[in-house]
Amino acid sequence: MTNGVSAHGARRGITGVTAPPLLSALNIVSLGAEISALRRFRDERRGVPARPTESDLRTIMSYSVGSLVSDRYLPLLREELALEGDHLRAPQWSKSAVAPDRAFVVAIVGAGMSGIAAAHRLQQAGVDYVVFEKNDDVGGTWYENSYPGCRVDVQNHMYSYSFAQKHDWPNYFSPRHVLHDYFRQCAHEFGLLTHVQLRSEVVSATWQESSATWELVVRGPDGVRTVHVNALMSAVGQLNRPKFPDIAGRESFAGPSFHSAEWDHSVPLAGRRVAVIGTGASACQFIPEIAAQVDELVVFQRTAPWLIPAPRIHDSVDPGFGWLLGHVPFYAQWYRFWLFWRGAEGMLPAATVDLAYPPTERAVSALNDETRKLLTAWLEMTAGDDPELLAKITPNYPPLSKRFVLDNGVWAATLKQPHVTLVSTAIDRIETDGVRTRDGVLHEADVLIYGTGFQASRFLTPMKVVGRGGVDLHEQWSGDARAYLGIVVPGFPNFFCLYGPNTNIVVNGSIIYFSECEVHYAVECVRLLLEKGYGSLEPQRDVHDAYNAKIDEANRLRTWGFSKVSSWYKNETGRTAQNWPFTVLEFWEQTRAPNPDDYVLV
Ligand code: NAP
Repeated sequence: MTNGVSAHGARRGITGVTAPPLLSALNIVSLGAEISALRRFRDERRGVPARPTESDLRTIMSYSVGSLVSDRYLPLLREELALEGDHLRAPQWSKSAVAPDRAFVVAIVGAGMSGIAAAHRLQQAGVDYVVFEKNDDVGGTWYENSYPGCRVDVQNHMYSYSFAQKHDWPNYFSPRHVLHDYFRQCAHEFGLLTHVQLRSEVVSATWQESSATWELVVRGPDGVRTVHVNALMSAVGQLNRPKFPDIAGRESFAGPSFHSAEWDHSVPLAGRRVAVIGTGASACQFIPEIAAQVDELVVFQRTAPWLIPAPRIHDSVDPGFGWLLGHVPFYAQWYRFWLFWRGAEGMLPAATVDLAYPPTERAVSALNDETRKLLTAWLEMTAGDDPELLAKITPNYPPLSKRFVLDNGVWAATLKQPHVTLVSTAIDRIETDGVRTRDGVLHEADVLIYGTGFQASRFLTPMKVVGRGGVDLHEQWSGDARAYLGIVVPGFPNFFCLYGPNTNIVVNGSIIYFSECEVHYAVECVRLLLEKGYGSLEPQRDVHDAYNAKIDEANRLRTWGFSKVSSWYKNETGRTAQNWPFTVLEFWEQTRAPNPDDYVLV
């Protein structure tokens, strides 16, 4: 599933050839050498080694990832590695140098992961900005989601900003409060908090042609007011507006009910009969937690998720490993780099449709079928002793078509408990006393919890955005949001989406990396405006359309575009509106700087 090497060094040579078993003793020799080097470092108190040269970097990168790193990747990887701090990725310009006398303010909507990154970069460039945040704290998704068991499902030594790397995470996959603290701490340490207006929701944004500004209507603690800014960055996220299912009778349920993203901690679950609708990433995290409290638990599954084995998902970082991260110079950076690389192009090959295979709803290629076999083996390991359960939790669509769920065996163990029932019969309606399935059975419940996901493809809702000529963004999109590079939209000058259409990753890397790329590009657009003295920029429509045609074509040849399975990756038109179908390198290359030829510059 990964490139099969460990962070402690290559288990392969730098040519990428796996060592034959007979040579495995070499690993011992190699580890012995590593331990001797650590002893020398300790005993001789040599201090921090010199920075590696370019050639050293190439060699060490190749060694640590177990294959020869292509030169095309090197600039990106050096940025991510950030051995010498942040200067490679930080803005290489400043407002005071390029346009000292021009008044220019950027508004950022949202102080979550992307909004904090944007604020940090604008601050580094010396550009005035203000952040409007609807909540009463920063942190976005990590502030809002407080359901039991909520934790990051990407290793957080990588799920962190390249400019704020942290070695002392308590867990490999930390709980949400740790992530929330991290983002809040970043906002504090970078001096961003004084620019953040909390409890302030941007209700609408309207482009003013005469002044080349955005007029924002902001609803805050002191009422509604109007603000004018020169550029607008939307950092509202994709997964923050709860989606309730369109099931008849939802309002008739007599007991308490709530959504996973709006967990009602005042509702006691102990000793009660609880029904949960949904078995996505959120539900699979909270169901095992609440199962321990409740009297009876009924879980309604429409589509079984594919589980990826992650034995350490609940573990604390081992003390020895924590020591290495904290004491050996650059070890933490290299570990983060190794995680990044492992995820970088990750399982993209296994998610690629082979038209000659031919692709089916079982598998889209031979490699995808191999993935199915590996994941099926995990399901058999954890639920093989319960054939009825095994049949229910085995997905009937190609792996990697939907977001997978990390599992250390807890999913099957939870569902096997005598007071837990997994129902895979479709729901007919919700009634006063519970949930009735299509077979006529009423599953009685005292509390109903919706783990039914988010209105992901309704980008930017409910904010109203009106561009050139009075065009409403949501009317232009008509349920099918599109942008050039996922960032800029024709007809909407000086407007930048972060985590916009087709910038979601499925099987490759960390979403923070994508946000950093988007922020870099948007800040470079601001630079273009300031440096060249333009009032506004927006992408050429034909450039935008050609780009989107390529995205659609590529997404159709990925598992998530090919499979008919339901997922939040597709919008109401059936188009994959969320996902980036190419490599992380290609996203980085395309977001280095705006090409003026792609833009209408006024
Ligand atoms: P989700 O993946 O969209 O899952 C929603 C669940 O509700 C699915 O099982 C879905 O079934 C079910 N559902 C929806 N409508 C239904 C209906 N009418 N009847 C029956 N079942 C229905 O939402 P999520 O679990 O909240 O996760 C969303 C995304 O958030 C994840 O994919 C992930 O990217 C992110 N997330 C991340 C973390 C993290 O730790 N980093 C944690 C949680 C979530 P179908 O599968 O049939 O549609």
